[in-house]
Amino acid sequence: MSKVAHYLQEHVTGEVLTSPDARRYFATDGSIFALLPAMVVYPQGESDIRKTARFTWQLAERGRVIPMTARGAGTDQSGAALGTGIMVAFTAHMNRIVEFDSKSGVVVVEPGINYGKLQQALQTHGRFLPPFPASYEYSTVGGAVANNAAGEKSVKYGSTIDFVRSLRVVLANGEVIETGRLNKKEFNKKLGLSSFEGELYRAIDTLLDENKAVIEKSELAVSKNSTGYNLLDIKRKDGSFDLTPLFVGSQGTLGIVTEVTLETANYNPQTTLVAAMLENFDDLQAAVSEIREKVPEASAIEMVDKHLLEMVQTINPNQLKGIIEAPFPAAVLLVELDEGGDRAQNKQTKKLEKILERYTQKIQVETDPIDQDKLWKIRHASAAVSAHISGTKKALPIIEDGIVPLNKFKQYIEGVYALFARHRLDVAVWGHAGDANLHLQPFLDLSEVGDRQQVFSLMNEYYDLVIGLGGSTSAEHNDGRLRGPYLERLYGSELYAVFQKVKQICDPYGTLNPGVKVNVTLEGIKPMVRSQFSMEHLYDHLPRT
Ligand SMILES: Cc1cc2nc3c(=O)[nH]c(=O)nc-3n(C[C@H](O)[C@H](O)[C@H](O)COP(=O)(O)OP(=O)(O)OC[C@H]3O[C@@H](n4cnc5c(N)ncnc54)[C@H](O)[C@@H]3O)c2cc1C
Repeated sequence: MSKVAHYLQEHVTGEVLTSPDARRYFATDGSIFALLPAMVVYPQGESDIRKTARFTWQLAERGRVIPMTARGAGTDQSGAALGTGIMVAFTAHMNRIVEFDSKSGVVVVEPGINYGKLQQALQTHGRFLPPFPASYEYSTVGGAVANNAAGEKSVKYGSTIDFVRSLRVVLANGEVIETGRLNKKEFNKKLGLSSFEGELYRAIDTLLDENKAVIEKSELAVSKNSTGYNLLDIKRKDGSFDLTPLFVGSQGTLGIVTEVTLETANYNPQTTLVAAMLENFDDLQAAVSEIREKVPEASAIEMVDKHLLEMVQTINPNQLKGIIEAPFPAAVLLVELDEGGDRAQNKQTKKLEKILERYTQKIQVETDPIDQDKLWKIRHASAAVSAHISGTKKALPIIEDGIVPLNKFKQYIEGVYALFARHRLDVAVWGHAGDANLHLQPFLDLSEVGDRQQVFSLMNEYYDLVIGLGGSTSAEHNDGRLRGPYLERLYGSELYAVFQKVKQICDPYGTLNPGVKVNVTLEGIKPMVRSQFSMEHLYDHLPRT
């Protein structure tokens, strides 16, 4: 054990591991990258994280920088749950529901709680957390907050940011702050503090004032966005101030979250599912735009394309038997309604059918949960593609989460098809049609030099495409190491410089998850690409001392 690990073991109550086995486990996440951490700390509580942060701060003051990376379940696809220093692993101990108010639906949790388990607990009280990611069975709430995660219900309910009321955060120097909206008087009090917290409030306030014009211009015309730092909603015209939006989506690069207070929504188990087979992307774009405008009750507007269905048919001919048969339409659109009872949903369905009938006669409406489950299998077939191994090639998450304005949706899909054709790759597209947010994963072999080069040429062309269409490089999966190099291209150099200043203010010594989001270059990440991609780490890991 190193001196640093010894020191930490003596001062924290949780476990500190340096065994090759533990370090190797944490060397990969859901991304194409690998980085070996020096040690793993399993905090028993906030005080362990404070002590670890204070220690790394003191070392950094003396010129030795040891990075701290917060880690939930490690499903991150952008490489943000990796680091070379101390891995702070939350799932082992900091995984409880602290408080639930059944009247208001507000829930307070520790960040390492499994998202699926929290969801189950909430549903027994008739509530749920709508922006759950598709990975909710494995992933944690802390990871969702740090990524500003979103999912199929976000089209109606919004992203994680819309549900986080406040946070407890350990700052780079080990101080703890509580975020939440402050009125003018409360904010002024913070400005007067002589602590690091006070310094942070003063510096962020000045930064926002000095860069007001460039920040206001920065909002992208997309319905979800998890890139950059969210500077738009910190300071409001009424003089109120809230650092919560800054920390949500910051991927552990500005502070480490130790407690999350979340709002929840009413859970209605009764839903209606409508499927429509569409023959071209003009119709797809027009139908989705109309649904968004006229059926606000739509709680999911999802799609898969023909190529995905053909791929699934080849991989496993029985998987969709009796549900959908070849020849497949250009796209299958699935629209869910989750508001009210029978009568209300009937009315909404009629509205929906009236829109869809203008584009297709092939419409299916299901109210029975078992029949709905069968239809959902069409959308969930994407998992078979992600998990498929084609010879030595695997589906890689490198261009998996772009989003564009809805009126550019058709151009986006066609652009993706052209990109894959240019690269002679099989294409399959699925995702959140209501947000024009597509998921796609090219099949490549990371052990082949040519394929590794192709990763970067594909990324360059793809991110040029989404940025050119006025979109965002990531709707829900965030920047991390993968998309950090494209952040300046996305927002321009002026705003990027503001992001760098935010990082400098909150993390002056670069101890908090460095190499993620800002100050990342393509040359810097190339050596981190692993030679084999796999998701084998997706099982529970608990400390073994
Ligand atoms: C198959 C698959 C499907 C996915 N689907 C979706 C989807 O639909 N929507 C979506 O948004 N994402 C999706 N993801 C990406 C990812 O699963 C989610 O963003 C998830 O919320 C991450 O949670 P985690 O617990 O795995 O976090 P991790 O991977 O452990 O960490 C993610 C980030 O959060 C930071 N972090 C974790 N805990 C803390 C903390 N306490 N304080 C500060 N920072 C912290 C980490 O440092 C890292 O930067 C998917 C991934 C996979 C593999």
